[in-house]
Amino acid sequence: MITALRHAAQLVGAHPPGVASLRGERLRDPAVIPDGALIIEGERVAWVGPSADLPPLPADAQVQDVPGMVVLPGLVDSHTHLLFAGERLDEFEQRLGGLTYQEIGARGGGIQSTVRRVRAASRERLKELARPRLARSLAFGVTTVEVKSGYGLSPVDELKCLQAVADLNDEGPVELVPTFLGAHAVPPEFAADRAGYVRLLCDDMLPEVARCGLARFCDVFCETGVFGLDESERILRRAAGLGLGLKLHADELTPLGGAELAARLGAVSADHLLCVTEAGIDALARSGTVATLLPGTAFFLGVEFAPARRLIERGALVALASDCNPGTCPTENLPLVGAMACARMGMLPGEVVNALTLNAAAALGQAERLGSLTPGKQADLVLCSGADHRQLFYHFGVNHVWRVFKRGRVVHTAATPALPR
Ligand SMILES: [Zn+2]
Repeated sequence: MITALRHAAQLVGAHPPGVASLRGERLRDPAVIPDGALIIEGERVAWVGPSADLPPLPADAQVQDVPGMVVLPGLVDSHTHLLFAGERLDEFEQRLGGLTYQEIGARGGGIQSTVRRVRAASRERLKELARPRLARSLAFGVTTVEVKSGYGLSPVDELKCLQAVADLNDEGPVELVPTFLGAHAVPPEFAADRAGYVRLLCDDMLPEVARCGLARFCDVFCETGVFGLDESERILRRAAGLGLGLKLHADELTPLGGAELAARLGAVSADHLLCVTEAGIDALARSGTVATLLPGTAFFLGVEFAPARRLIERGALVALASDCNPGTCPTENLPLVGAMACARMGMLPGEVVNALTLNAAAALGQAERLGSLTPGKQADLVLCSGADHRQLFYHFGVNHVWRVFKRGRVVHTAATPALPR
């Protein structure tokens, strides 16, 4: 089956083969082809170029003209906690009343309140709750979503969550990349025995997760009062030994040195980085670890944003993700996160496009398959109304997406097409 799209106002993210990630000044170039065309063969992109150069097509090819549309690679949301039960509206209001996230956590709120509700929910119930969130992500142009466990915090509940993620991935159309985050918090039954929980993670939970093949990555919430540097390193080294890739919640609330640890261990990403130090920036810049920034969380918590400009200018790989979760960033709107990156972190629209696509795919170790409109890659595409990709972050908070392709097939079409301009 061959499908061709012609006369797109812009094809964006048309990077040449072999470009696996972008740093420094190269991050600025969104690789735009004006009046672009693209051929999809089966699940893959077969050809990309100007419409004037489109090669002859077989008689049964489906050809569609898409003037007034910008075609982008499917967005990759490389950091979410999208599988959860229960909202945290009371906590939202308490924070607005002056309590900090840490103070709410100390009162039994925060992550622990979601843990109680996830433990009480069945695998089926968790899937029911996640499906509309995935549908909203897809409607905003997201075709691949990393989803973390971390609200179970017991062997049986963590496996339940990862199995739910595997089921949802099988259902499609959104592709889910599972991450084991058993080290999200110390569960209440281990409050007096932190070392016991770290042992349980290393000796029991991680081997079982690896044996079942239910996670591609292991992540740790490395933070003052959560898991320290030594504990984080021990857990991550065990995970690496079991064949899992590594991610790290690093330097979110305090400058603990998580960025340096992630770089030293060869983690695929170090995420948050609101409090990253100069040494942490240098360590990331010298490494292949992607600095994944989550400005929706800083916005929602009302705190200082991550130093995106310094990270980019010093040469770190930068990606953006939603951090979709019930406590600190309840949204699936990844283009809005891109708008925040522009308005509050000084990122340029071209940088944001690359940070939501190719570098986000790199943050999942998937850049050879996802993240750009490149021949040979999976045909995950988003068609947005408009003549210029910058609209996506300029006209913020609205949905510009008209149609989404996953693996070469149309999987979403907006009920009301194209915003009138
Ligand atoms: Zn997170």
